[in-house]
Amino acid sequence: MTVLAGKIIDELSKILPVKDGMVALHEPRFAGNELKYVSDCVTSGWVSSVGAYVDRFEEELAKYTGAARAISTVNGTAALHLCLYAAGVRAGDEVLIPNLTFVATANAVAYLGAIPHLIDAETEHLGIDIPKLDEYLSKIDRSRIKAIVPMHTFGHPVDMDALNALAKKYGIIVVEDAAESLGSTYKGKHAGTLGWVGATSFNGNKTITTGGGGAIITNDAEAGKKLKHISTTARVIENFEFTHDELGFNYRMPNINAALGVAQLESMPAYIEKKRKLAAVYEKLFANIEGAKFVKEPSFAKSNYWLNAILLENPAERAEVLSRTNAANIMTRPIWRLMSELPMYKDCPKMNLENSYYLAGRVINIPSSPFLAETN
Ligand SMILES: *Cc1c(COP(=O)(O)O)cnc(C)c1O
Repeated sequence: MTVLAGKIIDELSKILPVKDGMVALHEPRFAGNELKYVSDCVTSGWVSSVGAYVDRFEEELAKYTGAARAISTVNGTAALHLCLYAAGVRAGDEVLIPNLTFVATANAVAYLGAIPHLIDAETEHLGIDIPKLDEYLSKIDRSRIKAIVPMHTFGHPVDMDALNALAKKYGIIVVEDAAESLGSTYKGKHAGTLGWVGATSFNGNKTITTGGGGAIITNDAEAGKKLKHISTTARVIENFEFTHDELGFNYRMPNINAALGVAQLESMPAYIEKKRKLAAVYEKLFANIEGAKFVKEPSFAKSNYWLNAILLENPAERAEVLSRTNAANIMTRPIWRLMSELPMYKDCPKMNLENSYYLAGRVINIPSSPFLAETN
């Protein structure tokens, strides 16, 4: 065993409950009103696409994030798809997206027949390298570029003042992929409310979950109204008759999922506090491990630390760190395969992507469930 893998296991075993079995990367917990609200749905029969919990979830989510409007959806990918559609992205348009992201960001673009245009990461907080992008955009034909999707990797906010300035300079629309960053703030404002519209996710492995689900948040009330309309098949009711006044989507979140969401949202502030506490424990611990650096939030933001990540100095050690930690009941996983390495996106237009390649070989996620902070 190399020194590094052994050291990581020794140190993490001191703070994680490895004796009780595999410590997952991220596990949901339902210790609040989840059962009560869900059984209320079942008892009342309001389980599907209309119901009081959907409205309540949207109101509570808007309140929590300070957004003018929140629209719940079946999942985060659907939320992103709707946002890009509402931004006017259509077949043949290009959308700037990070090369280092989860595949959903690219898929949402491709569903519209549009083309993901891959951009590079910065190596400190894993977000977009804005100066490098600016330099690149100044030199290329930008006529097909319609939008940009900043993704706040593992919860760490992108420098949105700089990104919005760049988007304004080049006349492109900002749709935030805030799937991982619900509860993160940038200069006091919530991730997802910093661009034109933002999409978030309530998948089972995210900070809070609705089983499956997503939402759009925005401070543009008009856009919010339009997004709600097209998420519900663009339905209009006239004299008891349903009609549909434009192309719509059936992307509404069912009431039973929203019930789970209302309860989870009640726990959100406590979860964020615990996740930040766990991150602080990790930060201290990795300060003493040579060869692995803990990925920290940027100075201008407060991260939800959705998934904690470490950056290995030597990519040759990645395979061993992964296999040994998993064998020691510490679930770890390498960061996503880059979009430029996936068969459906390998031929997309791209800038120089060397930073994302540097990161792809070195970043590993470590256990991040909020309750892991309780024992430390
Ligand atoms: C989770 C995630 C999504 C999509 O979420 P789903 O709810 O699973 O569809 C989108 N983008 C990123 C970066 C994500 O991590």
